[in-house]
Amino acid sequence: MAAAEWIVGTQNGQGAHSVELAKRHLVQPWPEAGEIGSEARALIEGGEGIYITDGEGKRLIDGPAGMWCVNVGHRREELARVMYDQAMQLSYNTPWYTMNAPSAVLAERIAGHAPGDLSHVFYTTGGSTAVESALRFMQFYNNVRGRPEKKLILSRGGAYHGSTYLSASLNGRPRDRDWMNGADDLVVKLSSPNAFRRPAGMTVEAFADGLVAEFEETVQRLGADRIGAFVGEPVQASGGVVLPPGNYLQRIRGICRDNDILFIADEVVTAFGRLGHVFASGEVFGLDPDMITFAKGVTSGYFPLGGMIVSDRLLAELRRSNHPTAMYAHGLTYTSHPVGCAVALANLDLLENGVLEHTRAMAPYFQAQLKTLEELPLVGEVRGIGLMACVECVADRESRNPLQLDKNVGERIDAHCHELGLLVRPLINMCVMSPPLVITKEQIDDMVGILREGISRTMDDLR
Ligand code: PLP
Repeated sequence: MAAAEWIVGTQNGQGAHSVELAKRHLVQPWPEAGEIGSEARALIEGGEGIYITDGEGKRLIDGPAGMWCVNVGHRREELARVMYDQAMQLSYNTPWYTMNAPSAVLAERIAGHAPGDLSHVFYTTGGSTAVESALRFMQFYNNVRGRPEKKLILSRGGAYHGSTYLSASLNGRPRDRDWMNGADDLVVKLSSPNAFRRPAGMTVEAFADGLVAEFEETVQRLGADRIGAFVGEPVQASGGVVLPPGNYLQRIRGICRDNDILFIADEVVTAFGRLGHVFASGEVFGLDPDMITFAKGVTSGYFPLGGMIVSDRLLAELRRSNHPTAMYAHGLTYTSHPVGCAVALANLDLLENGVLEHTRAMAPYFQAQLKTLEELPLVGEVRGIGLMACVECVADRESRNPLQLDKNVGERIDAHCHELGLLVRPLINMCVMSPPLVITKEQIDDMVGILREGISRTMDDLR
């Protein structure tokens, strides 16, 4: 069957067949060993605005906006047209010897939004390759400066930075590293900044002080001359929407500056609108990172694109070094892809012309409505910022213990919500909500209503 007919075919009930094909031929992300090659997940056939449609024709609110990415919503004709027009104009050019206009115009616009002196963009194929590129840049930077021993990377519990080798080595969520290898000689893990999990009786301020003290102690113990970078999500996303406690991140930034340690803000989730701004580092948290990584929302998920932004200061140091011909031997076939950059420009137009403002207007309502779920005994905490939030379930409010809880509580909530018309992103005992940014108040009410009912039904299951 021709590709175009196949797209139409799925809408004519051919979807069930594709589930069979997937079972026979598709490897999905994060499968368990016994399921690899046979696990097919719910078929999604279409999308419009904040909704997607499943294989049975059921309309669901896209609670996670794909994977935190469909920021301007599904089926935006403006974006589809730009991809078509750009592909007809120029579908690809060799990035080694040539360049294209959309990539340069986009870089200039990104630099205009980025904090501090972040001014140069290297485009990648997504978030993992963005983090990988930033880390390889740090290694190159220190080699060229004659500091080859300055390579250790500090990361944190609860972090998620990707699925390529080095980026995945930074991951600090339970299970991400249980059965996988990583560059353990290069990465040092610090504590998770999740204040909900702080010791009983400790204030949030004292918890933040403890994180800063741990950071300082680590720098002293390992030696600043061996540490190349700290990598952190301003808000840990997949770790359960963990907000930085107090001004801890600003203090870490200061320590990094004082010790010549690069501060890399991984904004793969938080950039391009999720917190109501193009970048959250500067405008929300008052940070001026040495590098920012981004992906996902840059194209609202319409095209695989990511990137890292690097500061003028670092580039100036490289230019001044004793090794002006040293090569940053790093490139990707699809870097600066003209179709990806063109759709990113159209996406940025939408963000700048209303979607960012709408996000800032909706965020307080979104957070307040979700917060009402704390009335339910299963819910230990609802936390969030902008249009991202996490509902964390506990076995017992007093102890905040998630451990005795049914391990599939998130999946149970997801299953009930699916039946009721909402897709949620289950993470063990947590449900993460990050809908398309175009969501309205009425749609937020629907979303929270369904989630409330899904959690209530789960409580009945567990009784
Ligand atoms: N960094 C963060 C903060 C992420 O949340 C993710 C993906 O969820 C990544 C990096 C990896 O991005 P990708 O899946 O596009 O490679």
